Amino acid sequence: MPVRLKRGERLVLATHNQGKLREMRALLVPYGVELVAAGDLGLAEPAETETTFIGNATIKAMAAANASGLTALSDDSGIEIAGLNGAPGVVSADWAGPSKDFRLAMQRVHDEMLARGLNFDGKPRANFTSVLCLARPGEPAQRFEGKVFGHIVWPPRGSYGFGYDPMFVPDGHTQTFGEMDPFLKHRLSHRARSFEKFAGACLD
Ligand code: IMP
Repeated sequence: MPVRLKRGERLVLATHNQGKLREMRALLVPYGVELVAAGDLGLAEPAETETTFIGNATIKAMAAANASGLTALSDDSGIEIAGLNGAPGVVSADWAGPSKDFRLAMQRVHDEMLARGLNFDGKPRANFTSVLCLARPGEPAQRFEGKVFGHIVWPPRGSYGFGYDPMFVPDGHTQTFGEMDPFLKHRLSHRARSFEKFAGACLD
């Protein structure tokens, strides 16, 4: 039986990423679940040793559930750029370096594109992927995947959102995720799509 979360139940958000925390909290507001961030419980960030979004989402949710004894929800996500054979993908966070500077990460995308003889004129294809994993001690983990497709731009534009948002334009739009009203991003992002599947299966 899939785990279902009741209103008022405590749920650990198994992420230390402030941008993800903000978005996950906003998406969960209508469901009346009591949210607590992994960092506020003093939980450590586990090493993400898998090579897939599903694998790393599972590591993070299981680690938080087992350490806290509570139900935990994680998100593993990243941007995949077609011209870079899907890079940075699962290591999207690592491209920002130890200082977590996403201007550096976006600059690296730019530099790797140019090194391959690619430019930004032809609206290079890219997508974001999000895998949410819900884990409760003693129960099988459940995972939900969402994707949003679009293209990348240079230079980056806008200051909303986080991570690679300023360089990604979703299909059907002209603004980057960094420029658009966060409510619109919350409706059409990869995380909104994985969340919709999660909510259908696990939330009342
Ligand atoms: P991880 O899931 O903790 O490995 O990190 C995922 C990384 O992908 C984040 O640090 C961001 O760089 C990037 N990322 C994931 N989701 C988004 C998003 O919605 N906007 C921009 N960047 C994102």
